[in-house]
Amino acid sequence: MNETSLKKSLSKLNLGGLRYFDSIGSTNDEALAWAAGGANDFSLVVADEQTQGRGRLDRKWFTPAGSALAFSLILRPSAPELPHLSRTVGLAALSAADSCLKLGLAPRIKWPNDILVNGKKTAGILVETVWAGDEADSLVVGMGMNVYKPSVPPMDSLHFPATSLENELGNEPPAREQILREILTAFLSWREKIGADELVQAWEEMLAFRGEQVQIQSGGGAHVTGRLDGLESDGSLRLRGEHDNSVIIRFGDVKLRPIA
Ligand code: ATP
Repeated sequence: MNETSLKKSLSKLNLGGLRYFDSIGSTNDEALAWAAGGANDFSLVVADEQTQGRGRLDRKWFTPAGSALAFSLILRPSAPELPHLSRTVGLAALSAADSCLKLGLAPRIKWPNDILVNGKKTAGILVETVWAGDEADSLVVGMGMNVYKPSVPPMDSLHFPATSLENELGNEPPAREQILREILTAFLSWREKIGADELVQAWEEMLAFRGEQVQIQSGGGAHVTGRLDGLESDGSLRLRGEHDNSVIIRFGDVKLRPIA
């Protein structure tokens, strides 16, 4: 992947702008600074390698050179989108899942922000906001997708198993710029539905462990268990507790785990 091949592949997408880096600290950091400096809607930062790639709460996201897809998309929400921004992570996850479906894989979304293929993490999403007072001025939607085998971190560094498209396909995946085009194309069409029930339904249908017993581990150490029921309209997760009660899990420092 290089700037020329990327521009060629994305030429029909009407990007607000494009910045490509052979190597960068974090595409989200670059995009947040660009957004704060007035980037257009649908501007894109892409890097071949991230040296300081971030997951949620500054956990490290592994992006070695030459094998992963790492990008951050800047959104300037329109007035009708503003009430629905909590759905952005689902929108991005559905777009990534669609690109995996197109390759013949069976993706699932591990709420809130990971894409699993065959139960292993293949992509992660990090949505960050640039605030203007109480209102979101812009959003940065970061995504890392493991495309080729070397993009998978060493097993002993992981709390959850990981894989790559190449591993799961059993043969060479399409070029990364082509996968990116598929993700962004899907993103554009889901974005039109950000306020629609259809988006939440599709997101819910794609959830990993639906109908199964799961545990939610929060950063504070508390654990909640229940059957994974579905999603609330804002994208919060709904579990069914042991007394048939609904337990709503909001976005935050939470990890979802299946109970074997
Ligand atoms: P978990 O994945 O443990 O449920 P999480 O969803 O909070 O936690 P994220 O913030 O999405 O995790 O991602 C960061 C974590 O993902 C890291 O702590 C590391 O364990 C793992 N990780 C880092 N790079 C990759 C990668 N390229 N592929 C798969 N997993 C990765």
